[in-house]
Amino acid sequence: MTIRPRPLVAGNWKMNGLKASLPELAAIRDGVMAGAFGRAEAAICPPATLVSLAVELAQGSELAIGGQDCHAKVSGAHTGDVSAQMLKDLGVTYVIVGHSERRTDHSESSAQVRAKAEAAITAGLIAIVCVGESEAQRRAGETLSVVGQQMDESWPAGATAATLVIAYEPIWAIGTGLTPTAQDVAEVHAFLRARAVKLGAVEGAGVRLLYGGSVKPSNAAELMGVPDVDGALVGGASLTAKDFLGIAAAYKG
Ligand code: PEP
Repeated sequence: MTIRPRPLVAGNWKMNGLKASLPELAAIRDGVMAGAFGRAEAAICPPATLVSLAVELAQGSELAIGGQDCHAKVSGAHTGDVSAQMLKDLGVTYVIVGHSERRTDHSESSAQVRAKAEAAITAGLIAIVCVGESEAQRRAGETLSVVGQQMDESWPAGATAATLVIAYEPIWAIGTGLTPTAQDVAEVHAFLRARAVKLGAVEGAGVRLLYGGSVKPSNAAELMGVPDVDGALVGGASLTAKDFLGIAAAYKG
């Protein structure tokens, strides 16, 4: 029997949240402390403006805090950017890189994503690298070739099971309420696992593969029960403690 890694349920708040949202984060933290996530680990990635306050709020609990992006350089003339080292300095554990919204809004290439992931790992963070196909690519039967190429080109040198997480996020499922079938997710995750083993050998076998895209309390158990799904990256449903803790129920008991 293969021993699977500890699952991770990570919330991506995107460009949402003000200081007034901190009580919601506190409720998530309290749920984590009360054991709501069972054997899974929980993380929230708030906008950069709230990271410091979020780290303070999560201090002493098992709720991890993450960033949503980082620059590939440590410091320098890059107005508006935040480096991995700066996030680490705040006490952050994870950073998402290569989210499809950044690949689209900021034209980020997989080579840039790889450089960001390598910077994150060098700074002592765990990189959550996102891959996923568009609706047109899925319709054209290109899903596996698209995510395979993204994996190859975004995979950070020297990544280990402890420093890298891959999130499969079909773009057409993000924020739409649509999800692939469990069978479709199983096909992609089996493919990604084989690719991870090819790229990272034994470490690739242990890298956590998250599913992301319209995960909510009502579909979490089914999606999290798919083989080789080691957790979820959650957008909209991570904004309220009620929904995020509802998703956690997939790992209770
Ligand atoms: C995301 O953007 O990472 C995401 C999974 O969003 P949602 O859960 O809202 O589809």
